[in-house]
Amino acid sequence: MTAIVQTPAEVDFNALTARFRKLYGAAPDGLWAAPGRVNLIGEHTDYNGGFVLPIALAQHTAVAVRRREDDLVRVASTSMNHDEPITVSLGEVTPGGDYGWASYLVGVGWAARRRGLDVTGIDLALDSNVPVGAGLSSSAAISCGTARAWSDLSGWALDQETVADLGRDAENEIAGAPTGLMDQLASVCGRPAHAMQIDTHAVTIKQIPFDLPAAGLSLLVIDSHTQHTHAGGEYAERRHSCQEAALQLGVHELREVPVADLATTLDKLPPLLRRRARHVITDSARVEEVAALLTSGDDPRRIGSLLNASHASMRDDFEITAPSVDALQEAAVAAGAYGARMTGGGFGGSVIALVDRERSETVAQACVAAAAAGGFATPSVFEGVASGGAARVR
Ligand code: ADP
Ligand code: MG
Repeated sequence: MTAIVQTPAEVDFNALTARFRKLYGAAPDGLWAAPGRVNLIGEHTDYNGGFVLPIALAQHTAVAVRRREDDLVRVASTSMNHDEPITVSLGEVTPGGDYGWASYLVGVGWAARRRGLDVTGIDLALDSNVPVGAGLSSSAAISCGTARAWSDLSGWALDQETVADLGRDAENEIAGAPTGLMDQLASVCGRPAHAMQIDTHAVTIKQIPFDLPAAGLSLLVIDSHTQHTHAGGEYAERRHSCQEAALQLGVHELREVPVADLATTLDKLPPLLRRRARHVITDSARVEEVAALLTSGDDPRRIGSLLNASHASMRDDFEITAPSVDALQEAAVAAGAYGARMTGGGFGGSVIALVDRERSETVAQACVAAAAAGGFATPSVFEGVASGGAARVR
């Protein structure tokens, strides 16, 4: 029987270079790669000033780029099978414009120009092995890879945080996706064998040791291949509820509410807002607990119960899971995972599970069986390995 845990096929840099030549009739100036990410814990905390704890994945987007002297941006995505590049004039890019998937790339140039940088056009070809729309930030991988490349080629000498900012601005303002900064920071600042504890209020990053293979462990990423069609509207509704809860509690951001004596504090809120706020405040506190455990050098298996608690909080209080991901989470734990939770914005997407390496295949099989029993799509499973952030590769 073929294994269920499968490593996604590598991005072929030589093929991408050849594709660039074919599209644009010249060699690229260079190749850059930027990863997708999984968030270990701390969901929907990033727009509340709370903590998150993502890792950058080994799966990445590679961009082959050549600088142009004019204002044109031409982009093509091998993984989307586009035969012709999309051409956009940078001067015409504006919020509310419709550039399709190219928004994430032309938006970077738009954001750079808004910052007063000297921006000329680029030719770009990309390929990616980050699953799209699976809660693994394929969007940040394409925007941040492009931002790193554009900066390096233009001599802007931007630091990591500014590269992430350009990616976020592209997503928020040109692609119209209201994300926090977590995805982009993770894609830019990832480090092998580390997770990033990001304080989204202060915008500071602490690198936390996360070497699972050294502990005989593996982090399974289980893509449910399901996504709620109204996910965008639900996301906006949750943001609104959090703002309303903060207002009623008299704080700027929910992150200011201490986790001690939480029940009494939240008594002031109506039941729905109470549950929404409780998720955000407790999940941010769980990030601090997980980071402290990992930093102490304790057995990483001990974070498992916190992963499970986070899933329960997303399911019962924040109500952002989905029947398919609940089934996968339960199946993983029943098959011996130390902990499992949905990761990403929710309403579908992926589940992560912390398992002993030798149990990976057993847990993955249990997930596939549970999906079949529930009548859900067959999930795909790969091992999530904490890897490096956006960088030039050629
Ligand atoms: P996620 O970031 O969780 O994968 P998003 O909805 O934020 O999901 O981003 C997915 C979108 O990003 C796609 O619909 C597409 O517009 C763009 N995208 C991601 N990867 C690629 C790719 N390899 N080629 C072209 N567009 C891509
Ligand atoms: Mg995204």
